[in-house]
Amino acid sequence: MAEAAAILATARTRVLEEGVGLDEAQVLEVLRLPDEALDDLLQLAHDVRMRWCGPEVEVEGIISLKTGGCPEDCHFCSQSGLFASPVRSAWLDIPALVEAAKQTAKTGATEFCIVAAVRGPDARLMAQVAAGIAAIKDEIDINIACSLGMLDQEQVDQLAAMGVHRYNHNLETARSHFPNVVTTHTWEERAETLRLVREAGMEVCCGGILGMGETLEQRAEFAAQLAALTPDEVPLNFLNPRPGTPFGDLEVLSGPDALRSVAAFRLALPRTVLRFAGGREITLGDLGARKGLLGGINAVIVGNYLTTLGRAAESDIDLLGELQMPIKALNDTI
Ligand code: SF4
Repeated sequence: MAEAAAILATARTRVLEEGVGLDEAQVLEVLRLPDEALDDLLQLAHDVRMRWCGPEVEVEGIISLKTGGCPEDCHFCSQSGLFASPVRSAWLDIPALVEAAKQTAKTGATEFCIVAAVRGPDARLMAQVAAGIAAIKDEIDINIACSLGMLDQEQVDQLAAMGVHRYNHNLETARSHFPNVVTTHTWEERAETLRLVREAGMEVCCGGILGMGETLEQRAEFAAQLAALTPDEVPLNFLNPRPGTPFGDLEVLSGPDALRSVAAFRLALPRTVLRFAGGREITLGDLGARKGLLGGINAVIVGNYLTTLGRAAESDIDLLGELQMPIKALNDTI
């Protein structure tokens, strides 16, 4: 435990006091901390979040405009059309999209993310997104984010012109592990889309999924690669092994490992919006939201995830009240 105390003391000085994120080797040390040090680690991650991000929690809603039937082979994803997964291809219409945005805004959320299961958008999808955004902006005051796969320069420019303020594109995992997860495109192709998004002035949202067979070294590598990108937001997912996908038989990350990872990523990214995305129910159970929000997380998704049910919106919103963490207001974000 003396060694653990020394690792935490170094992290305290560097991250909490100086505001500098841990480097890859230091993140690895944190990921290797024993369970007995977990409470102290979570407290430090929470202190870092409070000091460098403040008590506000960003609440986001997410809606799938086009579900399933994706041509890519991301081994964790039940929306790939290449696996025997239960998700069928389906499109949402514009009135349903606007209604979802309204419901999201009612929870106090400031972000509404439109997602499509595609390699990249085609002309039909771009037209749908344009119509959807215009219809939402007509009726609701909310920031709009998109997650539509890989983009070219023209598409980036079009989305920026539509007023998309944040674009999500996950690097998913460490560069060294990516070929074990996806074979139909490369990590570098994903990174290129992120570069274009940043250059166009949109906020960059980039995270990934933990528990996809990566080693602790690769988890630390991933944290360092994300930190190098300086994203505005990092959504952290935990693998929820979906039947019919190549990762369907992988073991679920243990609760302590999930929490240790969240804290380690917070220490690598002291100022980033760190969001709990999918899978927290299965790794952390009902206590997951509470523990995460007291261990470095400062953003949550309300309502349904893309392909599996998340916690109900009300329970998360109630929890924020109980923890005395205010919901970030819209005028703070624009
Ligand atoms: S993660 Fe995205 S790109 Fe990969 S298969 Fe799923 S929907 Fe397609």
